[in-house]
Amino acid sequence: MNNIITAKFGGTSLADASQIKKACAIITAKPERRYVVASAPGKRYSEDIKITDMLYKAHSQAKAGEDFADTLRDISDRYSKIIDGLGITFDIDAEIREIGEKLKAGTTPDYPASRGEYINSKIIAAFLGWPFVDAAEGIFFTEAGALDESKTFQTLGEILLKHERAVVPGFYGSLPDGSIKTFSRGGSDVTGSIVARAVNADLYENWTDVSGMLSADPRIVKNPKVIEHITYTELRELSYMGASVLHEDAVFPVRQAGIPINIRNTNRPDDAGTLISASLPEGVKRPIVTGIAGRKGFCSVRVEKSMMNGETGFGAKLLQVFAQKGIPFEHCPTGIDTISVVVNGSAFESRRSEILQDIKNVLAPDFVTIEKGLSAIAVVGAGMVSVKGVAAKVFGALANAGINIRMIDQGSDELNIIVGVDDSDYEKAVNALYNTMINNQS
Ligand code: ASP
Repeated sequence: MNNIITAKFGGTSLADASQIKKACAIITAKPERRYVVASAPGKRYSEDIKITDMLYKAHSQAKAGEDFADTLRDISDRYSKIIDGLGITFDIDAEIREIGEKLKAGTTPDYPASRGEYINSKIIAAFLGWPFVDAAEGIFFTEAGALDESKTFQTLGEILLKHERAVVPGFYGSLPDGSIKTFSRGGSDVTGSIVARAVNADLYENWTDVSGMLSADPRIVKNPKVIEHITYTELRELSYMGASVLHEDAVFPVRQAGIPINIRNTNRPDDAGTLISASLPEGVKRPIVTGIAGRKGFCSVRVEKSMMNGETGFGAKLLQVFAQKGIPFEHCPTGIDTISVVVNGSAFESRRSEILQDIKNVLAPDFVTIEKGLSAIAVVGAGMVSVKGVAAKVFGALANAGINIRMIDQGSDELNIIVGVDDSDYEKAVNALYNTMINNQS
């Protein structure tokens, strides 16, 4: 144990002075919370505009030769309210002036976009009385724009560990020429993970506005249960199928070092949230199914040819047709003389005639049938490995709800069962699966 927690706070957790005060109360409540990563102020209410979006707007205006003074003034006003609310002294005018000058001189969007977290972190550092460490000094990208992992972990670790505590802005680092480069949107999650890794933290806390990851989409299932524990692999499966709680690239740096991630709610700090780790903590009973996620809009291209089974390389050639058109395949169920390729429906439609022509030329099939409007639903759980009857329950739940299963696929690691249903049955199927596989589990 190093007694170090890295705590990252998202945009809604730092959207105004009262939210920042809540976050700082959380930070100071535990002395182990030594390295804090901050987002830019996010939305205070649903129609509000994020500071990052305002900064991108100022850049587009500058690029188009339009006046951006009003946009910068709105940004300055939001920060001024925060500064007043926190009762600190901070020269916001100087910061805004510098952004204005850089915009006039012509800059990439990354520089202004990064100032949201830069200024917010300086303000939070001033309020806490902690040092501020600029992410540009310790997070490095290669010329090609990829994270330079070894240089980053080494340098950032050295810089941060010189300080007992520090606040680091999320979302950006620097390119070899010293200019600023941001991660993709939501990238402060990635910074949090990098900081946790660089200081070899025991835990990466990700503070947001929900009490953890939900076991199903709340727009479809009413009040789904929060997932208490999830493994990195289960998370990957669910995220791929559309469940979102963290930036996709945020898992990798901490996972490599075995540092768990705890998703927490700034507005309900007593909730335990979701713990993401390589394996479950000792003594915790693993549920059979951890979560359910799915996506609509797939299509299945079914190729039939008698004696296909005796033709070596048939499947490889078929997949190659899709690969050549730049269309990744999602599933590939096979029969004796049939093989189906399940792909994204709109990607397929955009190159439909070329693909069908190539399949004809290369494979000379007897029939090709296209089924559109397919949803894929993944029932995910590391706990289903070697448990009898899970698939029967999944299929039974759908049968009882009167839903026809159009495709079945199980990952080779037995971590998930994927079923394909009609798009029109999607919501009903997710609810049926949730009620049988998750809500009824003890
Ligand atoms: N502020 C950035 C965004 O809005 C990064 C982040 O919040 O993670 O995407």
